[in-house]
Amino acid sequence: MSTIRLVPEPETTARQSLLELSRDELEAFLAAMGQPAFRARQIWEWIYTRYAASFAEMTNLPKELRQRLDAAATIAPLKLVTEIVSLDRNTVKALFMLPDGQTIEAVLMLYDQRRTLCISSQAGCAMGCTFCATAQGGLARNLTAGEIVAQVLYFARYLADPAMPPETDVERPTQVTNIVLMGMGEPMHNYKNVWTALRRLTDPAAFGLGARHITLSTVGLVPMIDRMAEEGLQIGLAVSLHAANDDLRTQLVPVNKGYGVEELLAAVRRYIDKTHRRVTFEYALMRGINDTPALAQELAARLQGILCHVNLIPLNPIPDSPYQPTSDEDTERFAQILRDAGIPTTVRLRRGIEINAGCGQLRRAVSA
Ligand code: SF4
Repeated sequence: MSTIRLVPEPETTARQSLLELSRDELEAFLAAMGQPAFRARQIWEWIYTRYAASFAEMTNLPKELRQRLDAAATIAPLKLVTEIVSLDRNTVKALFMLPDGQTIEAVLMLYDQRRTLCISSQAGCAMGCTFCATAQGGLARNLTAGEIVAQVLYFARYLADPAMPPETDVERPTQVTNIVLMGMGEPMHNYKNVWTALRRLTDPAAFGLGARHITLSTVGLVPMIDRMAEEGLQIGLAVSLHAANDDLRTQLVPVNKGYGVEELLAAVRRYIDKTHRRVTFEYALMRGINDTPALAQELAARLQGILCHVNLIPLNPIPDSPYQPTSDEDTERFAQILRDAGIPTTVRLRRGIEINAGCGQLRRAVSA
């Protein structure tokens, strides 16, 4: 079921990650090494369209330059610590070490037509959601834009390499088709770096993924939802709601103390008015906590008139947690109440339960 690698050492020498640089900055970096602009263009192409993992692969660069770059820079700031493949071989979870020794997770999920990658935006998280494994260690730090992009490039290489992808039930995928920022961290709490990364990932001259194939998930930092509405990029918005009233939501998602349900839904309405895009509400069903028929009716009432879709998520249980997943039967009953009220509702496929695929779980297991 799993492949475990040796735990790498953190970097001891500070090398410039080229993934932190815009095209102009990369040109300036190369110019400082006495190199012409076309070298920057070549390297950019190797990184973002040919998914090179090392300078050694850049065979159209002089060998001497490749050696100098190797000493001064990196294009792979993440070191793989552990990689686990689910029993059905359609979910792959990776734990990476950052140059300073922090660790983060990313998960690749293979569906019929999609290869969806769930990435992290922070090492740890400050939001303190009471059902979440990542919350338990608090926030270590924000990821840089390059570290966010690096997760995508790692799996782009993984999928493009005929030797790497596991044999799966689905046709062998070769490209990342969808990205969700639903891994460790609150993307809106690391807004600037996340958006720098998103612009790189959607730049046709870089990774070139369609913005509509990317979803950013938030617990509801209202000012940042308003800011996102102004970005002019068609990134999807998902809001982790988990409860439709303030008492229960504050228990589950403490940030609700600052931005209550009414204020959050008002921000969502403003976002829809501005972007005309449908918003997804994520709702992790927890047995006996937020899964009763009365709460489904309350949720349906709160969401009436909002251009939205509800995604019910079977909770990934974490050890020693009081929160347990709702049964399949109760999940379906909850979903039906929403559908009967006219709210489009889906139940997310349960993926990777046996590989701790819930956010923060692998990191916790490895450091335990
Ligand atoms: S659920 Fe998301 S926002 Fe909440 S603590 Fe976990 S990582 Fe942070």
